[in-house]
Amino acid sequence: MKVWDEMISCALVEGRTYLMEHESKELLERQGIATTGAAVACTAEEAVEISNRIGYPVVLKVLSPEVIHKSDAGGVKLNLKNAASVEQAYAEITHAFQDKNVTGVAVQRMASPGLELIVGVSRDPTFGSVLMFGLGGVFVEVLKDVSFRVLPVTDADIEEMIMEIQGYPLLRGYRGTAVDLGALKDMLRRISEMVTRYPEIREIDLNPVFLYEEGYIAVDARIFLERPEKSELDVISGEHSTGGKSSLRTLFYPESLAVIGASDKPGKLGWNVFNNLLQHRFAGRLYPVNVNSKTVQGVRAYSSISEIDDPVDAAVIIVPAALTLEVFEDCCRKGIKFMIIESAGFAETGEEGENIERDLKKLAAAYGCRFVGPNCSGIINPHHRMIQSIGTIGELRPGNIGLIAQAGVYVAGMIWGMRHTMDFALVATIGNKADINETDMLEYLGEDDNIEVVCMYLEDVKAGRRFIDTASEVTAKKPVIVLKSGRTEAGKKAVSSHTASLAGNDLIYDAAFRQSGIIRAADNEHMFGLARAFSKQPLPSGEGAMVISYSGSWGVAAADALSMSGMRLSDIDDATLGRLGAILPPYVGINNPVDCTFEMNALQLKAIIEAGVECSDTSSFIAVIQAELLHTYAEVLPEIDFRGKPIICCVPCKEFAMDNVITLEQTGFPVYSTPEEAVAALSAMHRYASAISCRITG
Ligand code: ADP
Ligand code: MG
Repeated sequence: MKVWDEMISCALVEGRTYLMEHESKELLERQGIATTGAAVACTAEEAVEISNRIGYPVVLKVLSPEVIHKSDAGGVKLNLKNAASVEQAYAEITHAFQDKNVTGVAVQRMASPGLELIVGVSRDPTFGSVLMFGLGGVFVEVLKDVSFRVLPVTDADIEEMIMEIQGYPLLRGYRGTAVDLGALKDMLRRISEMVTRYPEIREIDLNPVFLYEEGYIAVDARIFLERPEKSELDVISGEHSTGGKSSLRTLFYPESLAVIGASDKPGKLGWNVFNNLLQHRFAGRLYPVNVNSKTVQGVRAYSSISEIDDPVDAAVIIVPAALTLEVFEDCCRKGIKFMIIESAGFAETGEEGENIERDLKKLAAAYGCRFVGPNCSGIINPHHRMIQSIGTIGELRPGNIGLIAQAGVYVAGMIWGMRHTMDFALVATIGNKADINETDMLEYLGEDDNIEVVCMYLEDVKAGRRFIDTASEVTAKKPVIVLKSGRTEAGKKAVSSHTASLAGNDLIYDAAFRQSGIIRAADNEHMFGLARAFSKQPLPSGEGAMVISYSGSWGVAAADALSMSGMRLSDIDDATLGRLGAILPPYVGINNPVDCTFEMNALQLKAIIEAGVECSDTSSFIAVIQAELLHTYAEVLPEIDFRGKPIICCVPCKEFAMDNVITLEQTGFPVYSTPEEAVAALSAMHRYASAISCRITG
């Protein structure tokens, strides 16, 4: 567009990185975005002439590359009703800014008051351009009540970002007032299109926009310019990664695996890794490589990778950082396609380590191989009996949870305990992710049919746009639960010193996760609590839940939690009420929550559920059961036919009945300590199920 190019070059010639109000408004108008317009006057006469033309009342504003906040310095004169007041305002403005470089005075229509909004665009190093929307004035200044979405946005994104702000009820209307939400959505869509079309736009500030019963008008506008570097765009889209589109399947299911640095000395990490592979009877051929030993843990060892005659699919490297380049190149020459570098001492420690990482990447690109890490804890695949963890782990049952974790020790230290209540299909640690990153892993976990639920522990994301696109595809097939740390400034510092990565702005991450359909976990407990429910129980088909409890108060707590998380107690039909009456003691009222009193027992629960599955409004169950009787429930629950309706167990004081909790969990019943936690899991499943059906039908 000619005007656009002219404006940019004009701004650049003047050394400006932003467009002034009249220029910004002109561009917006050309995109079909309504503004009060602005014509430039360089004399009082011109100001009057323009005012006569556009009609009174008018507004005069100072136009100066040196003035950002015009009204602070007396540069905005509102509601000028005639030529005399325009002349006076003109004189006042020029006087107030006589020391500044003033381009002129903007003359524009005076807009009638409406609901004040702020609409903006800014650029994030990870995700690229992001759109912001909120209510203006104190809502934005004090309450910071705004929402974000990564651009470009879909209509659904726009809808969600509007509904997400705290002040949404003001938009929806109260006491007969209403605003034009259709016009608002149209404006946001046009802004998105504009920024996508003109990547030179670094930031936009429309503050305020007045929203009316019909239409809206932008009264102040400022656009900041900066052409993004190609390298910046590549980072966001993920073009910079060395890898191609080839599947990572061989990495996760290698037929042969070398362990370079496998050790015969207990206590060394190279001992742990090899011992894990041996103990779990790795489902392929194993080749320990060690320069000093003829055998490692009883297995014939090789002094170098080149000594192995057979083809090797993948190699774990666990030698000092300074030796990795040499070892890595040996692997490349041998034709190994996947390397897992578990050694530490790379980018997380400083420049020297960073240089080694860079050289590793060059080698990988030259030989067409890919690598995980460095500074990770390898891959765990119980379906392939492949445990590369640096922490020794007991028996692992193959399951359906996929876990991607940035930090190696996090996984190594946690799986030992988690395996009692969670069954993993794959655990992939990514460490410094010099090559294979979280999105590559996520893409693969999306394809692997053993995996039904994905959990991710992230400290940052490498290529934001590619992450959103990939995650959107995966979440359409299976739930993805993400715990992202580094939310606070303090957390961020800890992150950079830990894995040499910088955490991005948390609000943008939040927006990106929402846009991708990701379920964001508040903490570790929450993530694994959700994973247990999603991995063990079917999704509920509706919002009605039957709560069965041994105590009225637990039942009430569950009912409250349900209604606060978009679910509700199911309506029990008369036939079901009749059946429940025959099961329950005569002295209790028959209702939902079903209060069995402290006489509650396993057979009774079975009978209630068998009645409940017949009730059409009941799509799920929450059972609050006694910790001291847990073993009896563990025997009976597996015998019940739930007809595809999920059940979530709540066992207050469950931490003192862990043996039975583990039995229940292993037979497929997730157990939580409180009704609130149980509902948090169930409602997340309900939301996911609804979002999926919306995506399918909408
Ligand atoms: P600033 O650079 O200080 O943000 P603005 O252009 O936003 O200057 O003007 C300050 C305030 O004046 C706005 O928040 C709005 O309330 C009011 N205002 C500005 N322009 C107009 C207009 N054309 N019609 C009605 N009110 C306006
Ligand atoms: Mg303003």
